Amino acid sequence: MNDSILIIGAGVAGINAALNAASYGKKVYLLDDTPSIGGMMARLDKTFPTNDCSICIEAPQMYEVDNHPNIEILSNTEVRRLKKGDGDFKVRLVQKARFIDEEKCTGCGACMEACPVSIPDEMDGRIFGNRKLVFMPFPQAVPNVAVIDPDCRFGKMRENGACVGGCVVDCSQCRECPIALCVKACQKEGKDAVRLWQSNKNINVDVKSIIVATGIMDDIPAEGLHGYKVCENVITNMEFERLMNAGGPTAGQIIRPSDRKHAHKIAWLQCAGRGLEHGVPYCSKVCCMIAAKQTIITKEHDASVETSIFYNDLKAYGKGMWGFYEKAAEAGIRYVRARPYDVFEDPETKNVFIRYEELETGELRKEEFDLLVLSTGLVPSDRNKRLAKILKIDLDKFGFFKEEDPIMAPLETKVKGIYLCGGATGPIDISESVVQATAASMKAVL
Ligand SMILES: Cc1cc2nc3c(=O)[nH]c(=O)nc-3n(C[C@H](O)[C@H](O)[C@H](O)COP(=O)(O)OP(=O)(O)OC[C@H]3O[C@@H](n4cnc5c(N)ncnc54)[C@H](O)[C@@H]3O)c2cc1C
Repeated sequence: MNDSILIIGAGVAGINAALNAASYGKKVYLLDDTPSIGGMMARLDKTFPTNDCSICIEAPQMYEVDNHPNIEILSNTEVRRLKKGDGDFKVRLVQKARFIDEEKCTGCGACMEACPVSIPDEMDGRIFGNRKLVFMPFPQAVPNVAVIDPDCRFGKMRENGACVGGCVVDCSQCRECPIALCVKACQKEGKDAVRLWQSNKNINVDVKSIIVATGIMDDIPAEGLHGYKVCENVITNMEFERLMNAGGPTAGQIIRPSDRKHAHKIAWLQCAGRGLEHGVPYCSKVCCMIAAKQTIITKEHDASVETSIFYNDLKAYGKGMWGFYEKAAEAGIRYVRARPYDVFEDPETKNVFIRYEELETGELRKEEFDLLVLSTGLVPSDRNKRLAKILKIDLDKFGFFKEEDPIMAPLETKVKGIYLCGGATGPIDISESVVQATAASMKAVL
């Protein structure tokens, strides 16, 4: 009897569900539509409430998944079709071309060094992060295989100076490229792994159950919201997280986008956009703890940095979280109960001014900062709608996957055999994601 399990989404929830199901002897397909497993946690600096290094916790699990005899990782892969059979699901997957042979690439980086074009990285572009057209998503990526930007392969980067730019022949017509520098660099290493003619691959799997673990995304504020993209030194909490990260674009230097100078006076603005027409209409549960973590770590980097958190409601969901807030307060972080109504910059210094009403006194105040961090919320994966349609399961009004009954049938969907865990169900932290992953995988295994 087929008792394999398909897990869609390979963040910390998907990874834990996979390891648990595999430990019960089940064959697991762990699928992610990006080039590496790891999800959001692989990009974080440290994790509340312990402030342990995020990738140091997740990388060993990623390695275990990669080497587990029962787990097959399908990176860069999407779900296309699903047919419900008699007690199983027949699923059509499409593995998108990486233009690199996964078996031959050793992740040596020679192709990346040879690539002549750098462009702003999708996540880190506003804080000095660049990537090449052939790149590794992050240093600890699993699989440890490079990927070529499809825009380069399909000739859209010609104006940016891509080396294949001058060629008029479609790559699918050639089996060896005489001009691409990545191809030559790889051949020089004796590997010959670049495959510019690689096409998408269909894969069919038959599984007994499916776990949806498609996670969350950080909300990108609308232009102009509290000065975002209007004032140079207004960034999001995800961008700040990447600034703090030793493996991030600034190697952990907390510097300002406008002049690369260290920020000495930093403000966090909680619930940024919440309740506004274009903003997140719900509490994301983790932002207050993210701000507490980021201020504590900022002080650990340099105790002289002044940190202020502007908030309205303070939330500390979960075990140990109130203690974590107290730790931040004890570390000298200034909490201001306030309603900010205006953010603007000094055109010369690029310092950021916040005008706010102090809620305890009703007074209007104005304060100047080197850097402003917007605590934006967590939003559903932007691929949820499409996936819900394919799997024939429901989304809630916010776009997260809907549980059949959150009290008596949590993590179950209206389709028997399809389960949910982690950020796919709503805003959540890591430990709760892991708890849900274990529960969902047990439902899938039994
Ligand atoms: C700035 C910031 C800081 C944070 N700090 C902390 C912290 O310190 N401590 C803490 O506990 N939590 C923290 N969190 C929350 C934490 O990131 C989440 O709890 C955690 O990432 C949820 O894990 P997940 O596996 O459910 O989702 P994700 O990590 O989002 O992983 C989901 C995976 O699914 C993939 N995917 C999405 N859609 C599809 C699809 N249709 N098909 C295939 N694959 C898909 C994605 O590519 C991704 O790899 C933070 C969040 C942010 C934004």
